[in-house]
Amino acid sequence: MTQHDVLRRPPATDPACPDWCVTDHEACDGEENWIHQSAPIFVTPDITARLCMSVDPDTGAVDGPQVLIGDIEYSPDAALQLAAALMQLAAIRP
Ligand SMILES: [Zn+2]
Repeated sequence: MTQHDVLRRPPATDPACPDWCVTDHEACDGEENWIHQSAPIFVTPDITARLCMSVDPDTGAVDGPQVLIGDIEYSPDAALQLAAALMQLAAIRP
């Protein structure tokens, strides 16, 4: 899987599962199963960025989505600002 394939996967069988989720929910128990995560993008060999969201199966309450980079949660707007700053940095030429 390349980083461009992060948001592509077969259709989810759980209607609460967003189409970007790659979590193996059959292997999760309890509240772990409420969390939906995208495939990782490796920021460094040890740090990943993922989209994550929780959905309470009983109430339907949704928390997220958030962008999780390492252990830090970013709102989608904050992640977009970080991405824009990184693109500006990468575009600098001598
Ligand atoms: Zn899911």
